[in-house]
Amino acid sequence: MKKIALIGSTGSIGRQTIEVVKEHPEEFEIVAMAAGSSWERFQSQLWQIKPRYAALADSSAAEKITSLPAETHFCGGEEAALAVASFEQADIVLVAAGGFAGLKYSLAAINAGKALALANKETLVCGGDMVMPLAKKQGTPILPVDSEHSAIWQCLGCDLNTPFSRLIITASGGAFRSLDAAQLENVTPQMALKHPTWNMGAKITIDSATLLNKGFEVIEAHHLYSADYGKITAVLHPQSIVHSMVEFADGATIAQLSYPTMKLPIQLALSYPDRLPLFGTALDFDKIFSLDFAPLEREKFPCFDIAVNCGREGGTLPCAMNAAGEVAVRAFLKERIKFTHIARVIEQVIASQTRERVESYAQLEEVDRRARFSAEKCVSALS
Ligand code: MG
Repeated sequence: MKKIALIGSTGSIGRQTIEVVKEHPEEFEIVAMAAGSSWERFQSQLWQIKPRYAALADSSAAEKITSLPAETHFCGGEEAALAVASFEQADIVLVAAGGFAGLKYSLAAINAGKALALANKETLVCGGDMVMPLAKKQGTPILPVDSEHSAIWQCLGCDLNTPFSRLIITASGGAFRSLDAAQLENVTPQMALKHPTWNMGAKITIDSATLLNKGFEVIEAHHLYSADYGKITAVLHPQSIVHSMVEFADGATIAQLSYPTMKLPIQLALSYPDRLPLFGTALDFDKIFSLDFAPLEREKFPCFDIAVNCGREGGTLPCAMNAAGEVAVRAFLKERIKFTHIARVIEQVIASQTRERVESYAQLEEVDRRARFSAEKCVSALS
């Protein structure tokens, strides 16, 4: 029985993690869980799961929790939520909290010597230079939950020491892959939130449409697999069946295929080194289907190159880029700026940044705060 601490239980990945755990009650138990502010959903999850410890990071939302199972010790506030990430009885911590805030939970889990099942992208995008050496020092594994990184891991035989010549990350292309540059000027948040193949949270769905998310995934792959940027490439694959590929020295390319569901990477991160049954993911070869690949349209979607170039420059720059992206996407969702302004806000913010070596979480928090401030100014100027 693996004991799991779940951070971000009310979001899309958190809810699917709970489904996976419920489908394998002999294998998994959630012993502690945390969420941000969605107290109603969190309260009903507590009654389903009855964890030993639970926390809501938002103290005022925590005050609204009125009924609790007898088994559950509940607290409110950020410190209380951080304690979930280092909960003593947990073997593995799944960090599914969204945004820069996820980094501190990942650091707490690694510092506590827990295996980290990582769904939060910002942990590596912003803090990769700090997180990877810390995990190595602590001897704790980082198990990828993002579908692309899970696919690469599987293609490497789940062995991070397997030599490879290239990582090929697939991209669905998001909601606007078939639009031209002029049409992109007038797309609405409602249009952007209709992802063709994946059902995810709002932020990542917009990041898929801009391809910023694909740039993030290149940076994550760089850190997770110690891969030079020159050895990572992204390719458009609209069916989202090949989740990523690895090319080897002799030209052989190995791919991981399944119907798109996040439950597979979530479950594998939790069950590794075992594989457990999962209904509905295996491909049906009695039906006709095809797999298409094409180069990314990088001029139409400049966020991809912006993100990868930030990754190449390194230091605190990806952290500033991420903060600007979070502000810009929120502004687009509130219809304060156009879709095509998202790239412009990020570009303007990073142009004014001084690049520093990543030294500490406190430093990144300061970079994040300053970049948000300057992104807000760019948004106000554009709206
Ligand atoms: Mg992904």
